[in-house]
Amino acid sequence: MDDKKTCSVMLPDHSSSGAICAEMSDRVPRPIRMMASAAAYLLGGLFTISLASSAAIKMLKSVSESNKRKLAIPCSICKGKGFYNCKLCKGKSTIEWSPLYDPIAINPCLCPTCDGNRIQRCLNCLGKGYV
Ligand SMILES: [Zn+2]
Ligand SMILES: [Zn+2]
Repeated sequence: MDDKKTCSVMLPDHSSSGAICAEMSDRVPRPIRMMASAAAYLLGGLFTISLASSAAIKMLKSVSESNKRKLAIPCSICKGKGFYNCKLCKGKSTIEWSPLYDPIAINPCLCPTCDGNRIQRCLNCLGKGYV
């Protein structure tokens, strides 16, 4: 049993790759090969660990997010929508405002609460729709 035979067994094609493999194993000194393999092992391990941890963090995050959504109770104030009709203008987008409380001088003003959007963000759930 010599090196070349085991190598050609490992690499069935007898073309260039087998020859290179045999030459490498013959010529590269052992300590360097060991160091290289150790470094590769360490690097591979670190890479695997970091990959695994980031994957685990992602998984944990997604799990906690879905748990939050599952456990979340839809906001009773806005019925889970995150917003409701503006209370100040009652969905009209303008308010009737008069500086002198004079019914003749009443001016329609853009609602300062919803800026004319007719809806305002739910203050109970802060617009998320659930608490
Ligand atoms: Zn409004
Ligand atoms: Zn709400």
